[in-house]
Amino acid sequence: MKFYSVRQKNSLVKLQEAVMNGIAPDGGLYMPSQIPRLPDNFFKKAGSMSFQDIAFEISKNFFVPDLPQNVLKKIVEESFNFDLPLIELDKQLYVFELFHGPTCAFKDFAARFMARLLSFFAEKSRQEITILVATSGDTGSAVASGFLNVDNIKVIILYPSGKVSPLQEKQLTGMSGNVIAIEVQGSFDDCQKLAKQTFLDEELRKKMTLTSANSINIARLLPQSFYYVYLCARLKLKNIPLVVSVPSGNFGNLTAGVIAKRMGAPISKFIASTNTNSVVPEYLETGNFKPRTSISTISNAMDVGNPSNFSRMLELYDDDVEKMRADICGAIFSDSQTRDAIANVFNRYQYIMDPHGAVAYLGLIEFIKTFQEYTGVFLETAHPAKFFEEVEKVIKTPVPMPDRLKNYLEREKQAVFLNNDFDELKNFLLRQF
Ligand SMILES: *Cc1c(COP(=O)(O)O)cnc(C)c1O
Repeated sequence: MKFYSVRQKNSLVKLQEAVMNGIAPDGGLYMPSQIPRLPDNFFKKAGSMSFQDIAFEISKNFFVPDLPQNVLKKIVEESFNFDLPLIELDKQLYVFELFHGPTCAFKDFAARFMARLLSFFAEKSRQEITILVATSGDTGSAVASGFLNVDNIKVIILYPSGKVSPLQEKQLTGMSGNVIAIEVQGSFDDCQKLAKQTFLDEELRKKMTLTSANSINIARLLPQSFYYVYLCARLKLKNIPLVVSVPSGNFGNLTAGVIAKRMGAPISKFIASTNTNSVVPEYLETGNFKPRTSISTISNAMDVGNPSNFSRMLELYDDDVEKMRADICGAIFSDSQTRDAIANVFNRYQYIMDPHGAVAYLGLIEFIKTFQEYTGVFLETAHPAKFFEEVEKVIKTPVPMPDRLKNYLEREKQAVFLNNDFDELKNFLLRQF
């Protein structure tokens, strides 16, 4: 499979180049040159397949022969070695828990896969690779954990000072070894912008092999499509339309869902559920895309004012808002609606949602009120204990803390503090190499 930049559709690159570059030299995001359709009988047998088996079947289409089949199999097995429960909360209402990986957020799926893929290419090309990642909270820790102590790889995390939860900060800054955390005096968008400037800087590119682990990297995007296929296989819906509500920020998760649909996953509708950082739902409403500065909310991993995967969404829908509307509905919720949803769902089902999942739940409920024939699934992208301060205030009950999160709390913060200034970052990076 070859990959192209959305800005230059006729020049194709190989997997290794797309993954190592992260973003194309022209500043565009990579897309696969085709989205192979799963065979018609796939879903018949998939009902009895494990997630790892399904992931391997799909990923072969994209990654073999660039990766030898046995290497891919090992990568899939090591990356996806945790649970993936689908829980029925009510009739035709499900929550798909994507947070059972080591850092308790759905980003573990993609980060673990990408780490192993890159480590293979680093070894093959005998280069040290530097991973630069801007994070609004969860990406950084998933990436750091995925890459921790992987040979030939250095990880640099940029996170916005004071804008991540205390636990998230511990997860970001408590790593040592090959991971450096940089606390930036600015917003997540500033961090993302600094990362983009770094990737496009000639001098830095000459000194080091830099790549991105944000969802702009195709190796992070594609693995997220696997669980949508698995979801459809588990549900085995016949002639009942399925709607999936996706709590969205940079829109990697939702873009991966659309890719799964193009592969043949029977998903009728997606809901792009956002907090007040709602530029995509607004685009669906008005046809105008107006990025803006992000606003802080309690679902902070979705505080994105200029979602990087939007260009991929446009590409998938030929720049046509009508086509996008046929598949995707937008929904926008405030923090107070999110808190009410957490309380209501806890009282009604004794189920504890985190603020991100709660936004998705709200989007789903709003849709199903009007379209009752649908079976609805919302994605729960983080363990509620990651946001226990907020959640406990609302449900007035302690949130059980998984051991793997407790361990982070005991670590010490190690971070480099920098202003929101590209030259400062550049000088810092130059001193590292
Ligand atoms: C990153 C993240 C999101 C947003 O996912 P995108 O792919 O960026 O849209 C939602 N929830 C949680 C918990 C996250 O960490």
